[in-house]
Amino acid sequence: MPLKSTQNLLDYDREHIWHPYTSMRNPLPVYAVESASGVTIKLADGRELIDAMSSWWAAIHGYNHPVLNQAIEQQLQSMSHIMFGGLTHRPAVELAKILIDITAEPLQHVFFADSGSVSVEVAIKMAVQYAYALGNRNKQKLLTVCGGYHGDTLGGMSVCDPVNGMHTMFSDILPQQIFAPQPECNDDGSTNIDELEVLLNKHQDEICAVIIEPVVQGAGGMHFYCAQYLQQLRVLCDQYNVLLILDEIATGFGRTGTLFAYEQAGIVPDILCLGKALTGGYMTLAATLSSKKVVDGINADGSGVLMHGPTFMANPLACAVANASIELLLSSCWQNKVAQLEQQLYKELKPCRSLPAVKEVRVKGAIGVVELYRPVNMAVLQAAFVKQGVWIRPFNRLVYIMPPYIIQPDELSRLTSAIYKVLSQSRGCNSS
Ligand code: PMP
Repeated sequence: MPLKSTQNLLDYDREHIWHPYTSMRNPLPVYAVESASGVTIKLADGRELIDAMSSWWAAIHGYNHPVLNQAIEQQLQSMSHIMFGGLTHRPAVELAKILIDITAEPLQHVFFADSGSVSVEVAIKMAVQYAYALGNRNKQKLLTVCGGYHGDTLGGMSVCDPVNGMHTMFSDILPQQIFAPQPECNDDGSTNIDELEVLLNKHQDEICAVIIEPVVQGAGGMHFYCAQYLQQLRVLCDQYNVLLILDEIATGFGRTGTLFAYEQAGIVPDILCLGKALTGGYMTLAATLSSKKVVDGINADGSGVLMHGPTFMANPLACAVANASIELLLSSCWQNKVAQLEQQLYKELKPCRSLPAVKEVRVKGAIGVVELYRPVNMAVLQAAFVKQGVWIRPFNRLVYIMPPYIIQPDELSRLTSAIYKVLSQSRGCNSS
């Protein structure tokens, strides 16, 4: 089939290409994109959409940013890629340094992975290897909480929500991990951490680490919980001699109002996973940071070799754009911007509470969530949003937005009013 027209592209795509979480035989519709710039996505048919998704939490500075473009163009002049086994390069070393500088002091070591999921695999391997090298050979399980999401590879899937996660059908081939209830916080500051402690106590000889998304559980259901829970968790991890892995792949780089969500609890993880916004959404890259304690533990049996090494580890183009993106973020008034987005989201999404389809509205940093009573009809709702000139991709019972930080107030209002308008027309909001 010649791929001349947009329709040819769409037809070929539909016939041959898997899209995320969809069927090959009965896929959801896709829209062809011509280009993206700032917060505008231009479709091949000429329509323009305001982006509410930052391409899944990543494009914090918007698209086609001159500074980020330049970083890649400049890096391209010297090399686009070089193997990391036996070789190193300035973009990787500079990125490691900036990550070590902007994260908590104990995090001193960086492993570059090629996606968020892989960085979680690496974190899990680090924790298992740490316990093993220290002679705790039974400590091979992870403890996590329900409602989490940590990626689509087998290790990551094993710590996703076991029931509502997208991975239930694979449960027989996944490592069997231990699940505590979803974190809940009361107004008086008390939490349900006791239930986690019971499990930690019972299985302390089997658990090498706890893994959790701090403050905001993302793809598992956009659940927010309080910093006190994390403080208590940190204490318990030390008490029961297990490592704490924080997955900040979605929350990192300012999205929840602090550069990293763990700062809100004033705690430090032993292992930290970063991804998504790391490159400003330009390229795939992730990082697993760890403390000296973890590295020393892995070295305890004398080998210290961490058994992981992806082909595209520390890709120079991705590292160069990550360096530029972090500098751009740090030199901007991102705290003010995220705080303004939070206020505006709160004010403008609040009216959705009165809609019959809506169960709850919640806002945290530059994240706005409208939770419905029933799962949405994705195709219908998606088309309705496109008709309103906005790109909002709901899932399950959630209509949520996390726009690029550069979005202007009038553009954000276009997003929030589109949500109100589309949800007030009940079509698409109540069928499963
Ligand atoms: N952890 C979290 C918290 C995530 O939100 C995601 C991606 N949605 C991942 C891990 C996996 O990252 P990736 O899609 O880059 O593999």
